[in-house]
Amino acid sequence: MLEEARRELQPFYPPDPDGSVPVGYIWARTLPFQNPACGVEIPLMRQTWLAKKDNRKIALRLVPNRAARRVDAEIVEGRAISFDPEEGTVTRAHVRCPLCGGSIDDDATRRLFREGKAGQRMMAVVLHHPDRPGKRYRLPTARDLEAYRAAEQALEEKRRKLWEEWGMDPVPDEPTPIGGGPGAERAFSVHKYGLTRWGDLFNARQKLALLTFADKVRQAHAQMRSQSADPDFAKAVVTYLAFTVNKIADYCSTLCQWRNNLETVGHTFSRQALPMLWDYVEGNPVTGASGTAEGSLDWIVSVLAHLTHIPPVEGNNE
Ligand SMILES: [Zn+2]
Repeated sequence: MLEEARRELQPFYPPDPDGSVPVGYIWARTLPFQNPACGVEIPLMRQTWLAKKDNRKIALRLVPNRAARRVDAEIVEGRAISFDPEEGTVTRAHVRCPLCGGSIDDDATRRLFREGKAGQRMMAVVLHHPDRPGKRYRLPTARDLEAYRAAEQALEEKRRKLWEEWGMDPVPDEPTPIGGGPGAERAFSVHKYGLTRWGDLFNARQKLALLTFADKVRQAHAQMRSQSADPDFAKAVVTYLAFTVNKIADYCSTLCQWRNNLETVGHTFSRQALPMLWDYVEGNPVTGASGTAEGSLDWIVSVLAHLTHIPPVEGNNE
């Protein structure tokens, strides 16, 4: 399952010419600034630290480009960080325009999201070279954007194909929870931003990856059955593989935060909630790193190994 999924998905996460592998893409959701005199596409970032460790500091600097009416970005390291990366473009839902200094209040921000005016922009790429320790950052190139667009197209095709095969939309269209009780509105704030169906919580390449993994699990079942595996055995194996897909999904949504203190991909359910996230990291599920398909399978296998080693209670055969 992993090998086949990797073979299909790898072209959508192209390595750099020097062999560095992208392990994460940092995205910012965007809003067009409503004042026509400005009209810039604002990248929404709560803060702009990429690495925030005692001995290693790297941040993204947003550079207003008034002539071109856009917000450029550059990556700045160490002592060259002469600005405060804690100051992003959005606090709670209050947005500040880096170009004209104007602002969008929280109600307007939510309304714009619900009206479908929000977009997204790739802000940085996180790389790891297999022969070198640590991670490196660079700005996105045309190649990165092409790979993403190719994934968008591939998703359309896969969705159509699986829809026919499965007899239902393979992208989950069930409503996201609204929650109940005190704090629920904040805990499930995605709802207020128009992310009202589960499928809305994933970008196109994430959907493509998850559909591919899900499809491979189904194929594994069919293959086991055709090799006359015991039906219960086949069922147990695909159930555990489904747990793996579930774990991959946890690390593969637009609610995953780049953990700049560790330089790793965070996961969706860092708490039991679905709070809105402005800037997120899209991990690469087909590398061997943590938070990826291989890591997820290791987790599930560890849990099973542990559970099956618990000795049965004396005199109790259940
Ligand atoms: Zn502006």
